Amino acid sequence: MEFTCILCGYRSSDPGTCPRCGLPLLYKVRPIKPYKSNMPGVWRYSSVLPRPIRVVSLGEGFTRIRRVNDVVIKYEGNNPTGTYYDRGSAVLASLINGGEVKLTFEEDLTRSLALYLSTVGIETTVSVSYNVDPRDLLILAKLNVKVCVNCIDKPSIDYFNPLLIEGFKTIAYELFEQLNDVKVIAVPVERGALTLAVVKGFMELEEMGLIGSMPRLIGVYIGELKSPIGNQLRELGITFMKVKPEDAISAVVELARHSIFARPISASAYVTAKNTGAVAIVSGSPKVRVNTSEGSGLGRLQRLQGLIIAKVPRGKPLTAYSIWRTIGEGSLLGVYKALDSLVSKGMATVTIRVIGKRKVKYYVLS
Ligand SMILES: [Zn+2]
Repeated sequence: MEFTCILCGYRSSDPGTCPRCGLPLLYKVRPIKPYKSNMPGVWRYSSVLPRPIRVVSLGEGFTRIRRVNDVVIKYEGNNPTGTYYDRGSAVLASLINGGEVKLTFEEDLTRSLALYLSTVGIETTVSVSYNVDPRDLLILAKLNVKVCVNCIDKPSIDYFNPLLIEGFKTIAYELFEQLNDVKVIAVPVERGALTLAVVKGFMELEEMGLIGSMPRLIGVYIGELKSPIGNQLRELGITFMKVKPEDAISAVVELARHSIFARPISASAYVTAKNTGAVAIVSGSPKVRVNTSEGSGLGRLQRLQGLIIAKVPRGKPLTAYSIWRTIGEGSLLGVYKALDSLVSKGMATVTIRVIGKRKVKYYVLS
């Protein structure tokens, strides 16, 4: 494997940091056309990704384009753990070759990595602090992840891991495929890994001659720019815009009304996109989601009923499974409950058909 600095072109056979400009070295890809394949998840772009040892995908990627108040949003909330990190985790889990992975707890990133690494049976240890949210601990326990308190100084995987960046960059390929002509993109910036990945993706598309010029990228932040690679991103042509905390907070609420559950930093990309006509990349946040649509049992049931009524065609017999797929939210069990409740209210009917030896319930919305 070869690594390169996308700013100065420095090359190395080892990952690490560019000795000339301090940017993390990234996987050197030789882009070839056609860049699409029939493989699952991010592996749709396998020709521009490192060669996997095994293909791991949990259906991440190809997230929908949403439109809210005329703003075009690439919403990452429907990935398996609700964030774009799943793209990176899929690539990493496909290339990791045994050994133990040591992580320090970083909420969304750790949750995603733990899920993918446990899928391929990689032993994973996560160092947490004693005041960790117990909900996170329970998730890690379910995934058979070892947990210890403040036991790891240097994690084996960080945000700038070149394999993670390869996964994240598939957002650029999808934006190109879904929207074709993208002029301006607003990207939320914390550390800057997502921005770096999106730049890399578009540089590759340009190199393949698929786009005439790079889209303008706006890095959006709240408060202070904390990215360790802020200066290098500027040199790569990124402009930065600051969003007021109050505006980001109101955007969280506004987006939640449209079933887009985002943290303030992600919602700030929407704020900027509103003012600049950019396409906003908005990551999901499982926690925001938990606290709203899935908070109380009653609220969840009502929400699922609402979605069923809004999205499922009337008068057509459908299984709970296909209804669940249609609404694209909640759990299958939740959809069963919501349907039975609609039947009891006279808003739907249920028939049972015998198919082979199985009895299958069909619901018809009235
Ligand atoms: Zn460099």
